[in-house]
Amino acid sequence: MTTARDRTAVDAPELRRRVRALLDAHPPAGTDRLDFLRARFDAGLAWVHYPVGLGGLDAPRSLQSVVDAELEAAGAPDNDPRRIGIGLGMAAPTILGFGTDEQRTRLLRPLWTGEEVWCQLFSEPGAGSDLAALGTRAVRDGDTWVVDGQKVWTSSAHIARWAILIARTDPDLPKHRGITYFICDMTDPGVEVRPLRQITGEAEFNEVFLTGVRIPDSRRLGEIGEGWRVAQTTLMNERVAIGGGRVPREGGMIGLVAGTWRERPELRTHDLHQRLLRLWTDAEAARLASERLRQQLALGQPGPEGSAMKLAFSHLNQRLSALEVEMLGEEGLSYDDWTLRRPEHVDFTGRDAGYRYLRAKGNSIEGGTSEVLLNIIAERVLGLPPEPRTDKDVAWKDLPR
Ligand SMILES: Cc1cc2nc3c(=O)[nH]c(=O)nc-3n(C[C@H](O)[C@H](O)[C@H](O)COP(=O)(O)OP(=O)(O)OC[C@H]3O[C@@H](n4cnc5c(N)ncnc54)[C@H](O)[C@@H]3O)c2cc1C
Repeated sequence: MTTARDRTAVDAPELRRRVRALLDAHPPAGTDRLDFLRARFDAGLAWVHYPVGLGGLDAPRSLQSVVDAELEAAGAPDNDPRRIGIGLGMAAPTILGFGTDEQRTRLLRPLWTGEEVWCQLFSEPGAGSDLAALGTRAVRDGDTWVVDGQKVWTSSAHIARWAILIARTDPDLPKHRGITYFICDMTDPGVEVRPLRQITGEAEFNEVFLTGVRIPDSRRLGEIGEGWRVAQTTLMNERVAIGGGRVPREGGMIGLVAGTWRERPELRTHDLHQRLLRLWTDAEAARLASERLRQQLALGQPGPEGSAMKLAFSHLNQRLSALEVEMLGEEGLSYDDWTLRRPEHVDFTGRDAGYRYLRAKGNSIEGGTSEVLLNIIAERVLGLPPEPRTDKDVAWKDLPR
């Protein structure tokens, strides 16, 4: 239980003191990686703004960077955020916001240490941008729910232990109101994961078939029928997770393109120079705007501004990767390897220019398409009239399909 004293006592010097104590008790050089991560979580230095006992110290979120910098300087291992991005970015804030004490205590520690990977069972063949149209059914049977349906584009399902899942529990209600949010154990009978190959040649995501999967009611997140509201927390955090990552100046995609520019003077033309400079300026503006978004986030939940950041990130990434391929000419067009791989993490900037170009195509689709994000910005940031909706008060079962 956090006391008022805990909350006021944790400032930057106090955090540095706690980091030093952690490092003294568990010197990174001589400590097993997982043991170190577990000790870091238990010391409240995993995500400092989380409650005491759940990997945090109830400290301001903005102080996380103090901890991260100290641990990085000491050569401490990290929890491989790229591998567990869905858990960290989407599942954790939703569990924190809507989970029971029991769910939070059981799930958050192995999520943060990376011992348990998470995936997101939201999209369906007939429900992507119009996610609330989803048709996967969950029918109550005593203390369990029996789930049947198909999900698609499920990143990391092949390595996931848990999934956040939304399913229809009342087809008689309008589409946004009859949905409930669950935690699905991916090792349960009836969960089948099949690889889906992407344009890069990799199968980073999957189709997931759910046949008679039994989920105990104790793994429901939030109230019955409130799944859409719970999912909004996940989706807003998803946009920040994709578009609002911290990058150093000239880090990420712009760093790679600028690096090619510096190392290969023979590739330069006046036109490419002009375009690189424009993109460099855009990248710097996006980096600073994302810093501001993180500061806003430190004061509360992400708002619809996260959608603008995600939109900017995906367009910039696509323009930069295209310029890189163009700059490299024929070399940029050759592709290094089209072997089917099942990667354990999402990698936007990995491998060579051809890979980056193809992987960036997904940036404007995953986490909400650019067109839909524009709608969100128009409605919720600019206050423009919403799109006409004819299905608002119609029972989901009566919607034309
Ligand atoms: C790399 C990658 C990883 C993904 N990972 C996951 C995951 O882990 N879990 C998961 O659940 N999903 C995942 N997705 C799915 C992703 O969220 C959906 O693909 C996305 O929401 C779009 O849905 P859709 O593919 O059904 O396209 P559709 O909804 O069919 O859209 C098709 C086109 O119509 C446009 N459109 C639709 N409605 C409107 C509108 N109202 N106004 C203007 N234009 C509109 C769209 O913008 C798009 O251009 C992933 C996708 C990708 C590419």
